[in-house]
Amino acid sequence: MWRIDLHTHSTASDGTDAPADVIRAAAQAGLDAVALTDHDTTRGWDAARAAALEVGITFIPGIEFSTRRGHRSIHVLGYLVDPQHAELSATLQHLRDERSVRGKRIAEALAVDYPLTWADVLEHAEPGATIGRPHLADTLVTKGIVADRSEAFATILSARSPYYVPQDAPDPAEAIHLIRAAGGVPVVAHPVSQGRHALSREDLEQLVDAGLMGVEEGHRENTPAGREMLRRLAAERDLILTGSSDYHGLGKPNRLGEHLTSPEQFARLLAAGHGSEAVIGQGALGAQESAR
Ligand code: AMP
Ligand code: ZN
Ligand code: FE
Ligand code: FE
Repeated sequence: MWRIDLHTHSTASDGTDAPADVIRAAAQAGLDAVALTDHDTTRGWDAARAAALEVGITFIPGIEFSTRRGHRSIHVLGYLVDPQHAELSATLQHLRDERSVRGKRIAEALAVDYPLTWADVLEHAEPGATIGRPHLADTLVTKGIVADRSEAFATILSARSPYYVPQDAPDPAEAIHLIRAAGGVPVVAHPVSQGRHALSREDLEQLVDAGLMGVEEGHRENTPAGREMLRRLAAERDLILTGSSDYHGLGKPNRLGEHLTSPEQFARLLAAGHGSEAVIGQGALGAQESAR
C-alpha cells in the first residue's frame, strides 16, 4: 500500500528544509509519494523534481494559495498547475509582494518594542522565498524573545496581538478558478480546523459550486466532527478526499506521513491535473503510469 503525503513546505516559503531535503526526508520517512505545496510559489519545484528523480519517489508539484473571505483566511492547495499560466503566476507574484509589505509592517510595529529590524527578518528567509509570520517568529527566537515558532504564534504573532496585520488576499473562488484555468486540481486545505477559520458545510458547498475538486480531510487541525462532515460532503459531491501532514521541517510539530491520502484518491487527483508533470517513481501506481 502506497504512503502518500500531499502537503509539505520548504524554504521556498516557510518550511525549514530546502526543497530537495523535503523530498529526501519524505523518502527517509518511508513515503512513496510527496507533494511540495509552498505558500504562493512554485520556486521549489525544480529542485524537488530533481531530488525525486534521484531518490526514486513520486513527486507532485503543488502550491498553497492564500485567500481570504471576510475575516477568514482560507488556504487552497493547487496540484499540477501550469507554473507559466500568465494570470496565475501574476496573481502569485502579487500575493508574494503583498506578503513582504505586510511582513515589513509587522516588523516595524515590533521594532517599536523589541530589538529587531526588517533586515533581521529577511536574514531568516531564503532570497525570493514567500514571506510569512514564521520568518518573523524565527527572528524573535534568534533574539531570545520567544522559545520557538509555536510560542511566537501563541503570543506576539497571534491574530489577536496588537502587532498583527492581516494579509490581503483574493477570494477563494478566484483562486479555484485560476488553479482550474492553469490545468490544476484545487483542494481546500485544513478546512475544518478548531476556531474561527473553520468552514461550514454551506461555505464548502459554495466553493464546490465555484469548481473546488477536493477537500483535505486528514489534517491534524481538522476536528473529528468536521472530518465526518467532509466525508459526507465528498460522497455527495464526488470530491477527492486527501490526507496530509503540512510538514514545515523544524518549524512545526507536524511529521511527514502523519496523515496520508489513499492510492485511489491519489489516482483521481493525478488523472484530474494536466498543467504540469508529476515525477512517477517506483511502485504499483508507478508501473501503471509508465505503461500509459
Ligand atoms: P502567515 O501566512 O504569514 O499568516 O502565517 C501563517 C503560517 O504560519 C501558516 O501557514 C503556518 O504555516 C504557520 N504557522 C501557523 N501557526 C503556527 C505555529 N503555531 N507554529 C509554527 N508555524 C505556524
Ligand atoms: Zn506555512
Ligand atoms: Fe495552510
Ligand atoms: Fe500548509
